[in-house]
Amino acid sequence: MTSASNHPETIGLHGGQYRKDPATNSVAVPIYQTTSYQFDDTEHAQKLFALQELGNIYTRIMNPTTQVLEERVAALEGGAAALAVASGSSAVVLAIQNIASAGDNIVVSPHLYGGTYNLFTNTLKNMGIEVRFADPENPESFRELSDSKTRAYFGETLPNPKLVPFPIEEVAAIGHALGIPLIVDNTAAPITCRPFDHGAAIIVHSLTKYIGGHGTSIGGVIIDSGKFDWVANPSQQPLFNTPDGSYHGAIWGELIPEVLGAPIAYAVRARVVLLRDLGAALSPTNAFNIIQGLETLALRFREQQENAAKLVEFLTSHPAVKNVIYPGLFKEGQKALAQKYLTRGFGALIGIELAGGLEAGKAFINQLKLFYHVANIGDSRSLAIHPASTTHSQLSEEDQLKAGATSGYVRLSIGIEHIDDIILDIEQALDQGAPDVKIVA
Ligand code: PLP
Repeated sequence: MTSASNHPETIGLHGGQYRKDPATNSVAVPIYQTTSYQFDDTEHAQKLFALQELGNIYTRIMNPTTQVLEERVAALEGGAAALAVASGSSAVVLAIQNIASAGDNIVVSPHLYGGTYNLFTNTLKNMGIEVRFADPENPESFRELSDSKTRAYFGETLPNPKLVPFPIEEVAAIGHALGIPLIVDNTAAPITCRPFDHGAAIIVHSLTKYIGGHGTSIGGVIIDSGKFDWVANPSQQPLFNTPDGSYHGAIWGELIPEVLGAPIAYAVRARVVLLRDLGAALSPTNAFNIIQGLETLALRFREQQENAAKLVEFLTSHPAVKNVIYPGLFKEGQKALAQKYLTRGFGALIGIELAGGLEAGKAFINQLKLFYHVANIGDSRSLAIHPASTTHSQLSEEDQLKAGATSGYVRLSIGIEHIDDIILDIEQALDQGAPDVKIVA
């Protein structure tokens, strides 16, 4: 009922089919910590395996706790179906493997989470999938790099360190005409960006970040908009238009709408083929943990965004800060992108460039008392990292600059602590002269 609501505050608590547990009437979602499910009889089992009837078979492929998470996240993004998986990284790779095979290519933005960049430049290449880097400042470059073997486009909504939103609508429109779906990683901009509203076909999230929000559980999700037409350009999407020998010769693009009554061929194939074969399942307990986070996501993210905006005001007037990178401060074309795609706030990530360069960056991090020094974003706690001495330390200075991580760049992921405490910690770390400040009693 509430999945029709457009309000993320309500969807986080009630979205999807779940109202109460059908077996026990439990309001909180129970943890179904089971591997398998008893079939009623052989006919029942046969129908489940043939996809003539939907139901639980084995937790590698589906689980009732995980299903609630999937339906809620799908509702949050306005999608038709979702598949939860073991991590954000598995969500990214499975989202691509569900469309592309050896000999195919994908066209992507180079502004990516480091793990995804590695996946694209090394592991996908080793699997025979070519990755072509386009320039999101020139969406037409996606078209120019496409050919008959291009299976997908890929970009991150709010990639750090530059934090310039990806031109979703422009790239999706190019792909739509060519039969190429756009996959968007929306991990850094839940709620404030709704990529399906701008034409994206598929969304992935690392649930580990804002959605889980408490730093306890790794997880990922792939969401199918249900709007991409997989059969309109059959030669462009062979995995959906040729018989699948691993599933009784099913042609996914044709069979599924008739069987399921919804155009979710992509989500179904990812589940019954890729989870079956590659096995990156989310554990039911982690699904439960992430549901607890999802229930307060809208509340937390609102506070995180407000804290970030207030901290930006402080940072822009501090003499040790040479530059503040934050979508709310962008000018001209970048401002237009931020206003178009970040409709409910400018996110909770901030980049600062310290006037003192590398040494200032290290000293700042070492002086922090409240912020955690971790390679993570999206926790309820405030987090900081200095890429030049950590995540980007193996890159040449030139490549660091290309990535947007200058030697004095520090990434801040703002949490839900009181804003006065956040500012106090940043201030004492920037000033380097107040080692006796106690942020927490
Ligand atoms: N996508 C983005 C934007 C990320 O920041 C991350 C992790 O930092 C991932 C994907 C991978 O997620 P996970 O760590 O859950 O595998």
